Amino acid sequence: MKIWIRMVTVIIILGIAVSASAAVRKEIRIPDIAGYRTLKCDFHMHTVFSDGNVWPTVRVDEAWREGLDAIAITDHIEYHPHKEDIAVKHERPYDLAVSKAKDMNILLVKAAEITRDTPPGHYNALFVKDIAALDNKDFLAQIKAANDQGAFVFWNHPGWKQKADESYWFDIHTQLFNEKLVQGIEFVNGDGYFLDAHKWALERNLTFIGNSDTHSPMDPPLENNANHRTMTLVFAKDRSLDGIQEALKSGRTAIWVEDKLYGRAEFLKPLFEASVEFCPVYRRNGVTAMLEVRNKSDVPFELGRKGNAKGLILEPNSTTILRPTVNKESGKAEIIYEVKNLLIEPGKGLPITVTISAP
Ligand SMILES: [Zn+2]
Ligand SMILES: [Zn+2]
Repeated sequence: MKIWIRMVTVIIILGIAVSASAAVRKEIRIPDIAGYRTLKCDFHMHTVFSDGNVWPTVRVDEAWREGLDAIAITDHIEYHPHKEDIAVKHERPYDLAVSKAKDMNILLVKAAEITRDTPPGHYNALFVKDIAALDNKDFLAQIKAANDQGAFVFWNHPGWKQKADESYWFDIHTQLFNEKLVQGIEFVNGDGYFLDAHKWALERNLTFIGNSDTHSPMDPPLENNANHRTMTLVFAKDRSLDGIQEALKSGRTAIWVEDKLYGRAEFLKPLFEASVEFCPVYRRNGVTAMLEVRNKSDVPFELGRKGNAKGLILEPNSTTILRPTVNKESGKAEIIYEVKNLLIEPGKGLPITVTISAP
């Protein structure tokens, strides 16, 4: 009898252990910055309800597995290639996924993609309440209806399908941005980067947005999230839908794509400082000091120097030994780096100054 009870207990414990480890969430190591949570978000993806190839709940599973905080399912309002098999129901992707998102602690933003040839192009409306109410042949009426619902609207993949030497800014864009009907610009979409749109984001003080725009299932994450999807880092006051909405409307974001971050210096500088620690000098040999530099994040950092001085790559979650030349008497040195993969303008990395003191 006692043996039976023990065996049953063992089976129950094993059963719990197995069910708890069935899926693994890979955390993304990108630190918070002073006063804000750094939320990992993807605000552009599709399901079978437009031209995607997965069921809406799969997007929640993927987001959880990849360590994301928030997603928006943004099926096209106007394009339904699967309509012979899947009925056109604008609210269904959100309604099907929201309960699973709550169970898995993923923030699900209700959203949709307004879809026109350029001009005007494609626009994602986030935090909408009634997607069906946006289904209107009049483009401006759609955008205005989204704004009336309190949405945050951004222009998707602005130069998509445009020829390299063709401008993709039209009068309608002047109107949309002047009237503040569109508040952000997705100048990174998947691995596509739209340089002119990056410039416009800076000139017009628009929120920087980068997303996967995935249509297919996502691959499982690799070590150090080396195959991470393109995402928007949102610097939010708290981890909530309201927190994200407020941060987006205030322009507190950066974009993580491959091994690069695009953002304003006011966010990339504290993010670099929270990620990288220049430890105290542990040895000095004449004019050569030795210290460890720790990168505690999943982002590699490429530190470049002016002229011929050697640069440095700080690999993710790794320690590197730095051997700077210091002043013979004072033991001090000031090194100016450009963090080449933290882009504060097109082609311009974040400048940082490191002060070394070797007693
Ligand atoms: Zn699109
Ligand atoms: Zn899309």
